[in-house]
Amino acid sequence: MDLAAAFTTPAIPIQSLADPLFSAGGGRLSILRADRVHAGMSGNKWFKLKHNLIRARREGHQTLLSFGGPWSNHLHALALAGREFGFRTVGIVRGQLPEILNPCLQDAVNAGMQLHAVTREQYRHKNDPVFLRGLENQYGEFFLIPEGGANREGALGCAELADCYAPDQFDLVCMACGTGTMLAGLASRSPVPLLGIQVLKGEGYLAREVQRHLDRFAFKARCHWQIDDRHHGGGYARTTPALMAFIEEFERLHRIPLEPVYTGKVLHAIMDLKKRDFFPQNWSILVIHSGGLQGRRGFI
Ligand SMILES: *Cc1c(COP(=O)(O)O)cnc(C)c1O
Repeated sequence: MDLAAAFTTPAIPIQSLADPLFSAGGGRLSILRADRVHAGMSGNKWFKLKHNLIRARREGHQTLLSFGGPWSNHLHALALAGREFGFRTVGIVRGQLPEILNPCLQDAVNAGMQLHAVTREQYRHKNDPVFLRGLENQYGEFFLIPEGGANREGALGCAELADCYAPDQFDLVCMACGTGTMLAGLASRSPVPLLGIQVLKGEGYLAREVQRHLDRFAFKARCHWQIDDRHHGGGYARTTPALMAFIEEFERLHRIPLEPVYTGKVLHAIMDLKKRDFFPQNWSILVIHSGGLQGRRGFI
């Protein structure tokens, strides 16, 4: 199968929200529905896998191996990609596997992924050559994709999200950031300034990470970019009653599904920043719906 053709970006809809908070000042809030890019592979993880899979195929690899937590959108997408494009996949999962697999891991197994659980301590050594050699002894030769798809190929794919919006329509593009790979990729291509909402704790952490990605991928930022590190809501995958209530209300009003780890958090943050007059009143803001909806099942 021609992978480049299979990963041609389809038309991705942009929805304009009827939100009084924005329209009152002559502004606008829109959502890029990147969650709809593929029926199974989640939003930005589809973009991150694109050039990884193209490269793996070109280099003749049969097996793709990567890392993630038990609710990893990345491992989930990788498993589905392996099934669709004929790669064997191995997922190294952080922490013990539950006796009854959660729906995310069950989907991965159903798609043919081999799961290999490691302790949190072992997981910390995931980039260690000795640890990787051990995995190679066990699973044979593989193409390694880092956790979260956080490599140059991943960023190159995410850069293509910049082709999904007309630059003259927006003053700012916002997104949730975990590793910062998506934002680094977009920064290399988007003419519109970017705001990333850091979904995990750590003052200044992601701004440093994004700069590190830009340097190691030899990307030049084409636009101004900024990270907000104050809207993580207590840490990665942590929720608050306010966040959950916001998501419920947002879904009811706009009929757009969100999840609390990334997309709910970014929209909740944008609303808060808007209320605090962080943006000029008449700004037209685009939020990237980066997917992750399979993970909602962990919050019901
Ligand atoms: C992985 C993920 C992100 C974070 O992307 P990074 O490139 O790691 O910053 C955002 N949203 C969703 C839904 C994700 O699955």
